[in-house]
Amino acid sequence: MTAIPDLLAAGPTLSVEFFPPKTAEGRTQLDATLDALRPLQLSFVSVTYGAGGSTRDVTRDIVVSINAAQPFPAMPHLTCIGHTRAELTALLDEYVAAGIHNVLALAGDPPADGSDPQGDFTYASELVELVRERGDLAVGVAAFPEVHPRSGNRAEDRRHLAAKLRDADFAITQFFYEADDYFAMLDDLESLGCERPILPGIMPLTNPTSIRRFAAMNGARFPERLAERVDAARDERDRLKIVVDATAELCSRLLDAGVPGLHFYCLNRPEATIGVMELLGPL
Ligand code: FAD
Repeated sequence: MTAIPDLLAAGPTLSVEFFPPKTAEGRTQLDATLDALRPLQLSFVSVTYGAGGSTRDVTRDIVVSINAAQPFPAMPHLTCIGHTRAELTALLDEYVAAGIHNVLALAGDPPADGSDPQGDFTYASELVELVRERGDLAVGVAAFPEVHPRSGNRAEDRRHLAAKLRDADFAITQFFYEADDYFAMLDDLESLGCERPILPGIMPLTNPTSIRRFAAMNGARFPERLAERVDAARDERDRLKIVVDATAELCSRLLDAGVPGLHFYCLNRPEATIGVMELLGPL
């Protein structure tokens, strides 16, 4: 099975997200992480894309090579802000030709300096439409349980998300640390008539300093009390245990509620994902 909607229907799935490494050492680390994760029998992996195309070739090469070598599909992320229609059409055609069956369609962020990003796209929903035109690709989109930071208000954000999801196959969420934020989003979407599978994005708090920064950028609340416990850990082993226990507790609540799977932001390292899955057992 290579289409993620089929995997989700037969789920729960277990997936991880990688970022494209910038160096040869980073690529070696990514390969070692893939090896270390093998016993978990991943359902799929995804690989992020630098907004505006900064990692275009690296993302494509990694996705195509993992997809060809592994028993599970690899899904590229793709952002549309700052791109022309012709650029994205060419890249999508390359993916289809390389046997890729899934794409995560995103807007990306406009330039931080406020300059005009140029290009033909404003919202992810326009990229979903383009992907649909290009061939037999399943399409995922992003969802923000705590509301997207560029959004005017919650009701508006949910309406846009529900409309985007109507044309897409599934969503993956931004990371969150309170299961209730995810459940509230599902309730909002259900009341808008949207029942697509929404995979929770799980970010183990292995590096509180970086994750505090990501949370501020993405409108996600940062778990201060957990971070204090992680920072006060005696040593690396104790630190990993605190992170793994807290993450497994969140995942258990989500699984008990019947989520379609778990998607780990593993930051190209295997330890926390393996630790959590050892506690949870097979999904
Ligand atoms: P959209 O769905 O377009 O939404 C963006 C904002 O516009 C929201 O506030 C929404 O409410 C609003 N909106 C949507 N449609 C309309 C409309 N028709 N009219 C008015 N307002 C509207 N970024 C990267 O650069 N590379 C990645 O690889 C990447 N991967 C990600 C993976 C996941 C799982 C997630 C959750 C995020 C990821 N991001 C990535 C971040 C994402 O690109 C940014 O958060 C971006 O700012 C929003 O993307 P989106 O696809 O949610 O945009």
